[in-house]
Amino acid sequence: AGEMISTGKPLAADKALEAGIVDAVYDDGLLENAQAFLKQKRDADDMRGPLSAVTKLPNPDDEKFAALVQKTKARARGQLSPLKALQAVQAAQDLDFADGLKKEREIFLQCMDSDQRDGLIHSFFAVRQLAKIPGLEMATSRTIKNVTILGAGTMGAGIALAFMAGGYEVQLFDINADALQAGMERIEKTLTGSVAKGRVSETQMAAQLTALRAIDNMAETAISDLIIEAATENMEIKKSIFKDLDRLAKPGAILATNTSYLDINILAELTSRPQDVIGMHFFSPAHIMKLLEVIRTDSVSDDTIAAVMAVGKSIGKISVLSGVCDGFIGNRILKSYRKQAEYMVQDGATPQDIDRVMRGFGFAMGPFEVSDLAGLDIGWHTRRREDASRPAQERYVDIADRLYDKGRLGQKTGAGWYRYEKGSRTPIIDPIVETAITESAKEQDIKRREIGDAEILDRILCAMINEGAKILDEGITARALDIDMVYIHGYGFPAYRGGPMFTADQMGAGEIYNKVMNFAKQDDYFWQASDLLKRLAQSGGQFKDI
Ligand code: NAD
Repeated sequence: AGEMISTGKPLAADKALEAGIVDAVYDDGLLENAQAFLKQKRDADDMRGPLSAVTKLPNPDDEKFAALVQKTKARARGQLSPLKALQAVQAAQDLDFADGLKKEREIFLQCMDSDQRDGLIHSFFAVRQLAKIPGLEMATSRTIKNVTILGAGTMGAGIALAFMAGGYEVQLFDINADALQAGMERIEKTLTGSVAKGRVSETQMAAQLTALRAIDNMAETAISDLIIEAATENMEIKKSIFKDLDRLAKPGAILATNTSYLDINILAELTSRPQDVIGMHFFSPAHIMKLLEVIRTDSVSDDTIAAVMAVGKSIGKISVLSGVCDGFIGNRILKSYRKQAEYMVQDGATPQDIDRVMRGFGFAMGPFEVSDLAGLDIGWHTRRREDASRPAQERYVDIADRLYDKGRLGQKTGAGWYRYEKGSRTPIIDPIVETAITESAKEQDIKRREIGDAEILDRILCAMINEGAKILDEGITARALDIDMVYIHGYGFPAYRGGPMFTADQMGAGEIYNKVMNFAKQDDYFWQASDLLKRLAQSGGQFKDI
């Protein structure tokens, strides 16, 4: 009961039987079997009533229960209700039935009374709103059976796995034969691992592998209804692929790209069929992460959008529609608060301070832990790409470059913002990083000062919300809830806080605006308040009504 109630995960029928919470399980003939079961019970005079006060509970295993409480605490990341639910289970052991019910009611009301309840209700309904896109109600979808993925790297292999699990025929292509071979092997290895963990059966694995085909000639994309480009993040490579696809793909096929930052409008305009070109931005690992940003180009047709939203759903993704902009919804906001995080480190905070505060807020990981997991090379390449166009007024913190130059690329090299023991993912504070920070501050003449937890949280949240408000105001997304869902399902924002824009509504636009204006006294280039935020602050309005 403790495990079930604290996770909310449903139990399969055979497991429920094993746990003793159902009497019998039948594969077929449900009605006849149920009747026979009842008749047999009646004849044996074994008709106990509904589970109630008379039910005898087994003796509790205190140690096991205490371990479950600890595990739940870690898993809940600040969420109240799972632990409250366990208190109610505990009460069932400690009190008699009537007092137990009273206690349960008391605990339930505490949950009802919390802000977290509002956040969770918002999260629950917002997911169901995502696919209901204003203006798209009349669009018809298309039939998609065969999917080709171009590029068999980290993302290509993960995307292939997601489509295989969704029952699609999948073709995988890579320009490099060794990369294709490695991608195919990684897919098989991942599936074997899933079988070992009991997530996929042997039969399912066999069926999925039969549906997968490596192709060494791009012309074979001609049979596909959907083609997803997941090749190296380089505009010239992507341009050449889209020109080829325009020649090779069958009429009506959807041409999608998994680019993280590049302008998809440019790719669409290279083809003779821009109405069929769209972005499908998956998150790593693509077969596990729930979020899919669907990127709407200027000329994409409503039918293409509807088809891709439906495909996303069919492979179990939470699809959010975004317009084209640098980084789309998720990475654009990430870029903004990551900058703030690095400014704060140079100003006097430590990476571990910031990570601790953000975990305390309910994030799964802090921004520097995330950076170590993703790899510092990703940010480094992005910064080099931006060097030529970075505005002179923008503050530039070079600490990540210093770490990169030392070969500290994160977990994969055993060190990044933290260091790691061999085979462990536990971050350890490293004096080398402290030295890099103090040297960087000294060179830029920054006098480091103590930065408190409240300031850390404020600067990160305000950066997030201000950028989110700009995205909304520019029409990149139609609704604040889209931003909330991107953050909860792709970036580890705690669901019980409802997402950044919901949090903003709870704090009030006026308060956020004042904070932004206050920060702007120190750095008026970064802290340019969103016009929408300003309007809401003046009118007392809310993001959810936009
Ligand atoms: P990767 O380097 O692991 O894989 C890229 C693959 O593309 C390589 O195997 C390469 O041989 C192949 N390739 C290069 N040119 C090609 C061509 N002309 N035709 C076919 N294949 C070609 O890169 P990745 O991390 O899988 O990223 C792929 C794309 O996904 C990029 O656009 C990236 O921005 C995007 N993306 C990455 C992540 C991530 O976390 N890694 C997340 C979201 C989106």
